[in-house]
This record gives sequence, C-alpha cells and structure tokens, in this order.
Amino acid sequence: MIFMARIRVHIRIEGVVQGVGFRPFIYNLAQKHGLTGWVRNDEKGVQIEVEGEGDEIQGFLSDLNSPPPLARIEKISPRDLPPAGYKGFEIRESERGPEKAALIPPDIAICGDCLREFSDQEDRRFHYPFINCTNCGPRFTIIKDVPYDREKTTMAVFQMCPACAREYRDPGNRRFHAEPNACPDCGPGLRLFDPAGQEIPVPDPAGEARKLLKEGAIVAVKGMGGFHLAVSARNEEAVSRLRSRKYREDKPFALMARDLAVIRELCEPDQEAEKLLESREAPIVILPGKTGARIAPSVAPFQNNLGMMLPYTPLHHLLFDRELDCLVMTSGNVSDEPIAYRDKEARKRLAGIADYFLFHNREIHTRCDDSVIKPFRGGAAFLRRARGYVPTPIRFVSGGKSVLALGAELKNTFCLTKGNQAFVSHHIGDLENFETLQAFKEGIEHFQRFFEIAPELVACDLHPDYLSTRHAREINLPRVGVQHHYAHALSVMAEHGLSGPVLAVTMDGTGYGDDGTIWGGEFLEVFLQGYRRLAHIRYIHLPGGEQGIKEPWRMAAVYLDRIAGEKMAGLDIPFVRNLDLEKWSVLKAAVKRGINSPPCSSAGRLFDAVSALIGVRGTVRYEGQAAIELEQAARPDEPGEYLFGFGEVKGILIIDPDPVIQAVVEEIRKGTDKSVISARFHNSVARMIARVAGWMRERTGHSSLALSGGVFQNHFLLNRVFELLEGSGFTIYINRQVPANDGGISLGQAYYAMHQ
Ligand code: ZN
Ligand code: ZN
Ligand code: FE
Repeated sequence: MIFMARIRVHIRIEGVVQGVGFRPFIYNLAQKHGLTGWVRNDEKGVQIEVEGEGDEIQGFLSDLNSPPPLARIEKISPRDLPPAGYKGFEIRESERGPEKAALIPPDIAICGDCLREFSDQEDRRFHYPFINCTNCGPRFTIIKDVPYDREKTTMAVFQMCPACAREYRDPGNRRFHAEPNACPDCGPGLRLFDPAGQEIPVPDPAGEARKLLKEGAIVAVKGMGGFHLAVSARNEEAVSRLRSRKYREDKPFALMARDLAVIRELCEPDQEAEKLLESREAPIVILPGKTGARIAPSVAPFQNNLGMMLPYTPLHHLLFDRELDCLVMTSGNVSDEPIAYRDKEARKRLAGIADYFLFHNREIHTRCDDSVIKPFRGGAAFLRRARGYVPTPIRFVSGGKSVLALGAELKNTFCLTKGNQAFVSHHIGDLENFETLQAFKEGIEHFQRFFEIAPELVACDLHPDYLSTRHAREINLPRVGVQHHYAHALSVMAEHGLSGPVLAVTMDGTGYGDDGTIWGGEFLEVFLQGYRRLAHIRYIHLPGGEQGIKEPWRMAAVYLDRIAGEKMAGLDIPFVRNLDLEKWSVLKAAVKRGINSPPCSSAGRLFDAVSALIGVRGTVRYEGQAAIELEQAARPDEPGEYLFGFGEVKGILIIDPDPVIQAVVEEIRKGTDKSVISARFHNSVARMIARVAGWMRERTGHSSLALSGGVFQNHFLLNRVFELLEGSGFTIYINRQVPANDGGISLGQAYYAMHQ
C-alpha cells in the first residue's frame, strides 16, 4: 500500500481575478483534482486553500497557468500549512480586509455564448438587452466600490429571480457570480420617451426605436458608459440634422455597423483591423473608407477615413435588422461637453438634439467613452483610451513612489501609480468647462478609492494656467512639474520599460516650454532625471494665440511674410489672392509689435501653415482638422521632397522650415497638384526627422529613439519615418498603450515623478 500524505496549501493570487469567472474556474479545478478546501475573493485578489494529495496539488498549481479568458494573474504565492481536514470544496463569502488592490475589470463586449442565447428564440433571455455572463458585460462603469460584488455595483437594486440566483450560485454555471447577472423577469428593462419626458408605451421599446431610426429619427440611446446619439448613417437628411442640432460642423461621427460584412462594404479593414473590431474591447477603429461607399456625406465631411465599431452590448444588437445596418453612434453631448451618462442629465442636455430617448434602469456609475484606435504597422495606436481598456493598469518594470499625475489640458487623462502599476484613467476630455473638471475630480477620487492609492507626490504640466496645474496647486502634496514634451517622451519610455538615456522626437500642436515659449517641434535627449533640448524647429510667431490655432491661414501668412516680406502681396498664388489684406495688415502689425503672438516651435502649426497655403484648409472646425486633411490629401506613392534648413545656435540645432515653405510656393506657382505637394511636404518632414535623429546619435551615442506627440497620429508621416530609419541602427519606440496625443501625458508625468 502506498501511503499518500495529505497536504494543505494556501494560495494567494493577485491580478485581474475578480468578475472574470475565476472562482468557478478554481472550483472546477479542485473537483478535477479531488481537492477539498475553499476559495474566496478578498481585496487583493483571490485566496485559496486546497487540501489533498501532493501530486494532485501540483497538478492544480500547474493548471492555474491557463485561467479563464478575461483573467490576468499577476502573482501566485503558495504557502504550506498543516492539513485541516476539509470535507468538500466551497466558495466562501468575500473577506473585507484593509487592502483594496484587487483589480477591477474593464467593460467587455457581449461574448459568443451570450450572443447565441440572445439569438435563440427558445432561450429565456432571447433578445434580452442586458444578457451577460462572467466573460462579458459591464464592469468598470457599474462598480461603485471594491471588492467587486453585486452589492457594490449599480445592479444591487435588482433582486435576482430564483432562476438567475441558481445560475449565480452554481459553480458549474457560466454565470456563477456573474455580478450583473439578470433576465427579463428580474433585471433591468428598457423604456422609450419623447423629448417632453412622456413615456411612449410600447411592448418592445428597442424595436420601436429601430423603427424610428429607420424613419430618420435621432434617438438618444443609453449604453454602457454613457449616452449615444444614434441616427441612420445612410440617411443624409437625418445625419445633417444631427450635425446642426449638435453644433458639430465637420468633426467626423463614429459609426456602428451591424456586422463585419457591412464594415467591409464601406471600408477596407485589414486583418489586424478586423481583429481589433471583433475584440472583446470593441473599440472604434479608424479605417480607410472605400470611394463611393453608400454612406451619408455628412457622416465624415472632407474625410477618407471612417471610424467604425461593432455592436458591443446586447442592446446595440437590437437596434439593427436586415434593413438598418449602419448607425451613426456619436457621444451624447453638445459639441465639446463630456458625454451624458445619467438619465436626468441626458434628458436635459440632449433635449434639443434627440427626437426620442431609449432609457434603461441599470445606472451607469462611471462615465466612459468609446475607445478609438488607428491601426499602425500590425499594432494598435490609440487616439483615445477608454472603454474596454480602462482601468487595466500599465505595467512598469519596477515600482516607485505612489504618484498622482494630472495630465494636460486637452484630451485629459490622469494617472495614479502604485508599485509597478500605472492606472491611467479613461479619457476625461478637454478641461475647459465645469462639467469636465467635475468629471476629472470625481474620477481621481474614484480611482484612489478603487485601488487604494494614497499618492505621495502630485505631478503636473509646467503650464501655469492649465486647470490640471491649478488643481495640482490645491492638493496638499509635494508637487513636481514636468515639461510637456519631456512627458510625451517619458510616456513612450514608461510603456516600453526604458530608463534612458534615449533620444526623443516629440512633435505636437502646443506645449509649454521651460523657457516660457510655446514648444512643439522638439528633439530631446531624455533621462529619467531630466532632459536636454538638442534641437527644435525655428521659432515663429503664433499670430493671435488661440485664434492662430483655429485659423491656420494666419500661420501660413506669417510664414509667407518671413520668406517674402514686402513682396508677399505680389505673389501670384491663390492663397495670397484670397487673403483678406486688411485683416492681415492688422495682424502683421500686431505680430511685429509682439502683441498676443508668442513665439512657437510647433510642428503642428507648420502642418497648419502648409495646409492653408496649398488651399486644403484655412479655418478649422475641430482640433487638428487642417493637418488631418493635409495628411489625407497626400498621394501615397509620391517620392519627392523639399529640404529643411539647419543652423546651430549655442550648441542647439535649429531646424528652419523657410526653405520648405519657399519650395511649396514655387510648386503652387508651377501648378503642382495639392496631393503631390502634400506628399512631398510629409516626405520632407520625415527626412528632417531622420537627419536630426542621426545628428543627435552622433552627438550623444544613443540609438534608442522615441517618437511621440499628437503629430505622430499622422501615420503617413510616421510610416515614412520608419521607412527612412529602417536598417539604420536605430531602435524606434512609439506609443502602443496610451495615445501619442496629450491623452498619454499623465503616464509620462507619473513615470518621471515616481522615480524622483
Ligand atoms: Zn457572455
Ligand atoms: Zn432573473
Ligand atoms: Fe502635446
């Protein structure tokens, strides 16, 4: 007889292990190996005790390596104990300890299993808009506190019916402890209202909404993280009505298509893009549109690209049928305000926009916009990181101080760090109105509580007037200011675990320089402790400050004035012929006297100038429009380029765009097509970046190169830079987990501060 000693092991598991079907997974594993003991959630993750024969326990431990799809194990700590004589295996109630580091999962698109039940007429959840399971459904947006249990979510008000409760308690069921579990008998439901607040009594509110959408109505639809404004994307009259009511002139609307076939009809997604579209994060993916695609022109005026997503909640699936296959799904807000997420607020704010409201009574606790991704070279590049990705932390190689980093002004995110984890917030928006500022402050409070982080330091931008900087001053903690472009570079380093030194090219619209001027075309040598500015684009006056950003023609005029001077008025090009000379002379006088025209080295403004000069866009209706349309105008196969000038002042390389502007003017006079000029301009900037990178490497000996800043959302440019530097011995790093735009700034700030 072989005597097998029974042993007991206590196992603590940290990571994303709550709300992801982890306990049933453990339960089933214990059954498989004939082990007794228990499992329970605690505030750090999961605790397990298993008792049984040694080799079965070994088998159990090795099976932990293939957890359920949404789980992410960070750490497994086993500890041997004397046997306790457990009789069976049980799932115990959560323990409330002092620590709250258990990770909260993001919101996940409806899974295949749920979608099958949803489509099955025999199933008790047939067409139920709130079907979910341990592998899918709302999480982050409904969780009020940790540990993640039903009572701590906005589902607490719904008492589960016996059938749901059975599933919830059955460790073998795929809804075991699915906290938002619900069915038509016990869970949330839909109601349809008119703008006056009158309920429209119909048995099938979603079906009715679909019918109204087909007729061209604008319907405010309460979703996962907020309200969308939905309208048929094939109906031009309806889409343009939505535009005018929303006060949104040109900024493209996101689309939701019924299925991938519809997306393929409208766009050209490659394999990588399709993978992103169908991922459980289900972001909006920016795709090249097909010419002649049957879509309302007002969906995305002056755009070749379309932002597409697939239905990610069961409710979304109900909005489509054979006839209705594509909807505009834009944030429920007026122009730049944050997305509405509470019923009362939506009613008030969207009253002038929506013809109908499709409400449900599952409350959204945290507002969260859709994420936006533009695929680049086989990977994702975020334009906005929110639903599906937040609050999954970004990992650092090593830990450091706990930091609260407040980010920038536009496209704000904040970031809290704990140990080696960085919790970058969802996209908060532009911190320029009360609503957004409020969301910013609430969000910080929320994250601090969720992840129990007591920051030791606060990091912010150097810009004295950013609301985020002002907020930093109100916090009673040691404060660290981080230069904007340095923070862009650090965001790339943080993502890739680099501690420097690296070379960085950071190009964007504007950021506060450490000399009080506006920067934006910066070439830096970057360390964790600081940076050296090695090169930058030559300063030029930004005429009229903010107005100079909204009216790119001003930048074009200032550049032209610099190269042509008095002869500018005599230049026989359309830009000059169309120039309001009176307006310009006033502006010119102001620039000469330095009134409201700060010097800037911005790359974004250079793109603006060229865009206006060649007649692509002289006045913008949303941030970045001139540069975006310039990129789209560029002919892909054009190899030509112009040359930047270079000069050195006090050891700093100054990059002079004047020769490029001169060449552009020559091209215009020759009648060269816009598409060619634009491509050549892009090629010129890429060449300039490659040259300066080479020059920096010669000076410093470093060959790691980080590229960041909003200008690198221009993938025509980024691609050219990659092509030019391939095989040249540089290792290039770009943002893959946070946006290259100012949405990534908070991560960079945090990375700096935690190392101080
Ligand atoms: Zn599911
Ligand atoms: Zn039920
Ligand atoms: Fe920036």
